[in-house]
Amino acid sequence: MRIDIVTALPQLLASPFSDSILQRAQKRGLVEVHLHDLRNFGLGKHRQIDDYQFGGGAGMVMMAEPIFACIEELKAERSYDEIIYMTPDGQLLEQPLANFLSLKKNLCILCGHYKGVDQRVRDHLITREVSIGSYVLSGGELAAAVLCDAIIRLLPGVLNDESSALSDSFQDQLLSPPVYTRPKVFRNWEVPEVLTGGNFPAIEAWREEKALEITKQRRPDLLED
Ligand code: SAH
Repeated sequence: MRIDIVTALPQLLASPFSDSILQRAQKRGLVEVHLHDLRNFGLGKHRQIDDYQFGGGAGMVMMAEPIFACIEELKAERSYDEIIYMTPDGQLLEQPLANFLSLKKNLCILCGHYKGVDQRVRDHLITREVSIGSYVLSGGELAAAVLCDAIIRLLPGVLNDESSALSDSFQDQLLSPPVYTRPKVFRNWEVPEVLTGGNFPAIEAWREEKALEITKQRRPDLLED
């Protein structure tokens, strides 16, 4: 998979991709992430990328020209399955959307800033709009990092324990059961006995029961679907 991220602040995105699982995925050649600095496509000697909004009102708007120039250059090199704009009024990111996008080959992600991007970018360039939640961030970079993490950890070979991503919360409409590690007793709090008894069918049954109990308590909506 290849992901191209178009941003005015590439340095904000450098760190999430240079550590841990996202870094390992790139080292293993399972994903290529390329950051593109919109400033390089800015207009004039100040490399302008934003301007006042027509009709007045506070806040700058990201101009269409630099965004089209950058993304059209990318599109000339390969075709994209999706060109995604991160925005609070987009489709809410949930596990099925991450699963769907993890099957794609080339993704392009545009990060907004200020008041967002000129509507003509959204109308004529973007193929999908994604929100990471009902709150407003100051830029699309952190949202793009969240989306990429949710996608990349699903790629085969990225997580060391292959089955791990599938047993996470939301994959089967259930939240995860509690997990424990050593020591068996910590400050008099003991690990549930079934987990240390070696009876695997009993362990499986306990996990399912706990997952159901927690889902009923915290996210009954997941069970209604
Ligand atoms: N004026 C816009 C908000 C712009 S916030 C509005 O009210 O809808 C600036 C940028 O941050 C956006 O262009 C978008 O790229 C990003 N952003 C903010 N909140 C986000 C969210 N919940 N999900 C995804 N991207 C978000």
